[in-house]
Amino acid sequence: MDRRHFFQSSALVSTGALVGCVTPGVAQQQVKTPFAVPQVHVPIVGSDEQFPVRRIYCIGRNYAAHAREMGSDPTREPPFFFQKPTDAIQYVAAGTTPQHAYPPLTKNYHYEAELVAVLNKGGRDIPVEKALELVYGYTLGLDMTRRDLQRAMGDEKKPWEIGKSFDQSAPIGAIHKVAQTGHFTQGAIWLKVNGQIKQNANLNQMIWSVAEQISKLSQAFELFPGDIIYSGTPENVGPVVRGDVIEMHIDGLPNLSVKIV
Ligand code: MN
Repeated sequence: MDRRHFFQSSALVSTGALVGCVTPGVAQQQVKTPFAVPQVHVPIVGSDEQFPVRRIYCIGRNYAAHAREMGSDPTREPPFFFQKPTDAIQYVAAGTTPQHAYPPLTKNYHYEAELVAVLNKGGRDIPVEKALELVYGYTLGLDMTRRDLQRAMGDEKKPWEIGKSFDQSAPIGAIHKVAQTGHFTQGAIWLKVNGQIKQNANLNQMIWSVAEQISKLSQAFELFPGDIIYSGTPENVGPVVRGDVIEMHIDGLPNLSVKIV
């Protein structure tokens, strides 16, 4: 599915040449533009509003066994983060299995099942005890990764971007408000490929909790409403090929699935 078709079919994108300026901290104003650039939104369960995505942050190596399988020592490593572009989002409605295009350039395309926290407040230097006050809701998502490109770039001490931040690299489910689900500090997280269990862990095995991630991120970046955080994947990441069906689960959320084509 090409990009244009994706945007048209997802119906999650506001278009039109007159859109409100969304730069945080800048007064909203109507700006005339020569063409429309889509704003990415994710549906909110039980609401006719959609969540506008500002930035996608992802934490690396946040489960000890996954850190070890990636070749690092989880006990000594401070958290580190990377970003995906907002238009990497592929919204996946509960109960559907949309097609997910196998991306170009890779021969080792990996799944990473992750809890995603979404923010409706921002700030800098947020203390851990206050960090969850920024969270609007949660969902589940896949941090899809061109592992061969990620590794090759890492080996050459070049940016990972091509391995992590490509088109449609962020499948995501609808957002559930904290008021309905509470915060996710424990519970099963698993991922199956073609019905076979591949990843199977508990959210309480995160090295850095969601609250700690928000606190740490806010020391490096000013956070804003619309920022979302992929909170890391457990061990046993692995490859998929065309034809495979990925299904992932987090206790308390509907499953997410995609078919690789
Ligand atoms: Mn990840």
